[in-house]
Amino acid sequence: MFETLSDRLTSVFTSLRGKGRLSEEDIDATAREIRLALLEADVALPVVRAFIARIKERAQGAEVSKALNPAQQVIKIVNDELVEILGGETRELRFAKNPPTVIMLAGLQGSGKTTLAGKLGRWLAAERNTPLLVAADLQRPNAVTQLQVVGERAEVPVFAPEPGNGVGDPVEVARASVEQAQHNNHNVVIIDTAGRLGVDSEMMQQAADIRDAVSPDEILFVVDAMIGQDAVNTAQAFLDGVGYDAVALTKLDGDARGGAALSIRHITGRPIMFASTGEKLDDFTLFHPDRMASRILD
Ligand code: GDP
Repeated sequence: MFETLSDRLTSVFTSLRGKGRLSEEDIDATAREIRLALLEADVALPVVRAFIARIKERAQGAEVSKALNPAQQVIKIVNDELVEILGGETRELRFAKNPPTVIMLAGLQGSGKTTLAGKLGRWLAAERNTPLLVAADLQRPNAVTQLQVVGERAEVPVFAPEPGNGVGDPVEVARASVEQAQHNNHNVVIIDTAGRLGVDSEMMQQAADIRDAVSPDEILFVVDAMIGQDAVNTAQAFLDGVGYDAVALTKLDGDARGGAALSIRHITGRPIMFASTGEKLDDFTLFHPDRMASRILD
């Protein structure tokens, strides 16, 4: 994760070592190098521009510090700005005042929604919640079974339409699942919705219909970090088509560059709430911008 960016930034900082004071030229050259490193990491251009502007402004205004040498000062500024671009504070899950808390997952097919539903369910159950997973992806024949398998592995119950009743209506399934949760004391409902391989208006409409039927407390946009700049475009399309409160970034384990992670917050204005880092149920955490920044600068 972030290997290229880490390496590039390390070499930028190394070139500043031993300098007594940073001249205007040093700052310009450093900003140029950081810009290239971000572009190489596939960070979206508006994000790179905003980032570099902040770095330059802060480096120029930096006080002569006794405690930190120039290289350390630049590292600190870059660290602070990385934390900022990644969202600043950790965004915690918001629970509804009156249970169940309804969480809806939306995203493209293959983005990792079903896997995430299981991870999220297990993570919540470990914190003494009583989640219910909901199979509202009735588009693909296998999707329901897949969620049932994930639920079994995560030891979290799954609400699914009865087999043999035709395709079924995902909106009805979602609505019925909330009633079921109320009856059976599930305090959280996690609704897995259908995705397509590309952005498609019918899929968006279906997600919007489910949203309107159950008024989720949290809509999470699930996106594969490995698709780089496409993640940003898809994020924008879902923002316009369905809207969401936060982002779950998946497959960070396979993302050597980190462009999606570094761009999505700034572009969409929505925080990254969860990070998925592998196929196993435990490869999942709440997203901490400060820890992610330290990892990049490690
Ligand atoms: P969905 O179509 O959005 O429901 O996506 P799935 O949950 O079925 O995931 C698609 C594929 O990605 C599956 O093979 C998952 O095992 C895999 N996957 C999901 N999350 C991750 C992750 O964080 N890292 C890796 N390496 N693979 C993942």
